[in-house]
Amino acid sequence: MRRDATTDKLTGLPNRRAFDQVFDEAASQAATRRAPLSLLMIDVDHFKKFNDTYGHQTGDAVLKLVARTLTDTVKGRDHPARFGGEEFAIVLPETTAMQARTVAEQVRQAMASRRIVRRNSGVDYGQVTVSVGVAALHPGDDCAALIARADTALYTAKRTWRNRVVVEGQEPRPTNGVEARLAAAGAVL
Ligand code: GH3
Ligand code: MG
Ligand code: MG
Repeated sequence: MRRDATTDKLTGLPNRRAFDQVFDEAASQAATRRAPLSLLMIDVDHFKKFNDTYGHQTGDAVLKLVARTLTDTVKGRDHPARFGGEEFAIVLPETTAMQARTVAEQVRQAMASRRIVRRNSGVDYGQVTVSVGVAALHPGDDCAALIARADTALYTAKRTWRNRVVVEGQEPRPTNGVEARLAAAGAVL
């Protein structure tokens, strides 16, 4: 019962409700211990178009792939979750904004370096990329404020090009094209 109430059925990740609990607890621990904590907000780029072109079921398979990529990229103490729709979040305890940017880049590159191919038909859906907003807990912050700042950074990433990581308060940096060289690694749905 408990697992059902806190798990997203599609991806198997913790759902929004579980995220809120974990985030609350991690943020208050970080504040008490004056330890760093960061939040990544991750949104799939042009996902509506992907759904409209290939159908909802293929869209769902991509969301599962994104979830698996997040789980594979982070360490045990980190908390990935499905925030809602095609948005995901990761709470990173003991992590500064600059360290969080590295994690966010790993997530972005892991997605961008794959082409998505349907196993049984060989149909190639091309690339699915994500944009990531990064924010770190400030003294006196509450969770809502931190989410809002990560969201603002995510919005900047979307506005500037997508397939981007943006840290709160920083100008977006160009990515280095490594994903193009890594492309064709081949993710299978
Ligand atoms: P942007 O790059 O600006 O993020 O564009 P977008 O199309 O990803 O953004 P928008 O918010 O307009 O669309 C999100 C779409 O995600 C809407 C819906 O088609 C799709 N979506 C949301 N939840 C699910 C889901 O559970 N399964 C599937 N297949 N699609 C979903
Ligand atoms: Mg969205
Ligand atoms: Mg989107």
